[in-house]
Amino acid sequence: MNILVLNVGSATVKFQVVVTDAERMANDDDTKLLRGQIERIGGESVITVRHADGTSRRQTAALRDMRAAVDWLVGHVTSPESGTGLAARADIHAVGHRVVHGGEQFRRSVLIDDAVLQGIEDNVELAPLHNPHNLRGIEAARTALGAGVPQVAVFDTAFHHTLPEQAYLYAIPYPLYRRHRIRRYGFHGTSHRSIAYRYRKLTARARADVRIITLHLGNGCSACAIQGGVSIDTSMGFTPLEGLVMGTRSGDLDAALLDFIAAKEGLSLSQVEAMLNSQSGLLGISGLTNDMRDLLAEANELQDRRARLAIEIFCYRARKYIGAYLAALGGADAVVFAGGIGENSAEIRARICAGLEWAGLHVDAQANGALVGGKEGRFSVEGSTLEAWVVPTDEELLIARDTFRVVSGET
Ligand code: ADP
Repeated sequence: MNILVLNVGSATVKFQVVVTDAERMANDDDTKLLRGQIERIGGESVITVRHADGTSRRQTAALRDMRAAVDWLVGHVTSPESGTGLAARADIHAVGHRVVHGGEQFRRSVLIDDAVLQGIEDNVELAPLHNPHNLRGIEAARTALGAGVPQVAVFDTAFHHTLPEQAYLYAIPYPLYRRHRIRRYGFHGTSHRSIAYRYRKLTARARADVRIITLHLGNGCSACAIQGGVSIDTSMGFTPLEGLVMGTRSGDLDAALLDFIAAKEGLSLSQVEAMLNSQSGLLGISGLTNDMRDLLAEANELQDRRARLAIEIFCYRARKYIGAYLAALGGADAVVFAGGIGENSAEIRARICAGLEWAGLHVDAQANGALVGGKEGRFSVEGSTLEAWVVPTDEELLIARDTFRVVSGET
């Protein structure tokens, strides 16, 4: 089955074309025909396409809206110059969408029909910055490919539907949960699920035996406690603002700060919230950048004090969550790193793990240093009772596989 995977944002769409079926999934030889992104949709859009042979191409085109962008994409994917071998729109058999918020309603990936569209719409108030764009992407794909091509929604929140009440309820008046669905939902679920699944394969474990802490450290960062293969706690909450320190998000803080900052700085509450989302985290502390690579260079080469501080706070918060989740899980078999930072920075991994020897985690510096650029493997020394791993996340692959499963009815 040839599947177009779409991750639609406000003015961007990330895409991938994956060929998969039951046999390919079993043998782990799904084929990725092409991937890339379209940015600045609505103006002179920048299109980057990476082909399966490793070559990439960058071009611009005037794409006035999401519909035009997806139409261009479908045209390109099925053209000879794309190198996909797909010759007509009918060669795209299904579309898989990353949808951010499934609320309490969507616990797994589903075939998109009118009721599902309504369900995604109903969750717009929980994810006003994401769900509307996801809906636009679905509508654009339907226009480009026709209503006959099945589309599947894969929700970022779904993996966390197994959180128990003690983990998902805030300690605020209970009627607020009933009246407004205020609770912790968690995000990055597709990523945590992808990491856990791959870890399970690499260690030849049964699903029920997977007891790990996954750390997705990218621009957004979250931790997840996984027991028996399911999520029992995660660091993001009602929105992706809670939890770890991120590129531009503060993560955990005292809620009383909102009003205090608003009063002191003459800002509205929504301006403060925007500050916590887009001017905080690594960027806010360092005053320099949200990019961990640049921050490490500033700290190591130029000894910038605030760059160092940002890194320290980032690593300390992550280590605290590992400690908390060890308690939540009653011990774990491994801490598993993924995301742009988790997959590429041996230094950050080492700093997060430093001081966890009491918990049985002993880092093998050489193994850690070798695990960069998409490599997977263990970097704790042989015999560590708490192992450390790098397992690159592959959300697009999981979305493609879910799409195949849902469309074909196979589980
Ligand atoms: P997103 O969450 O947007 O998908 P990524 O998972 O690509 O983002 O992660 C982006 C982050 O990964 C950035 O902070 C970037 O600096 C960091 N990163 C990528 N490569 C390295 C590296 N070699 N060392 C340190 N950080 C890196």
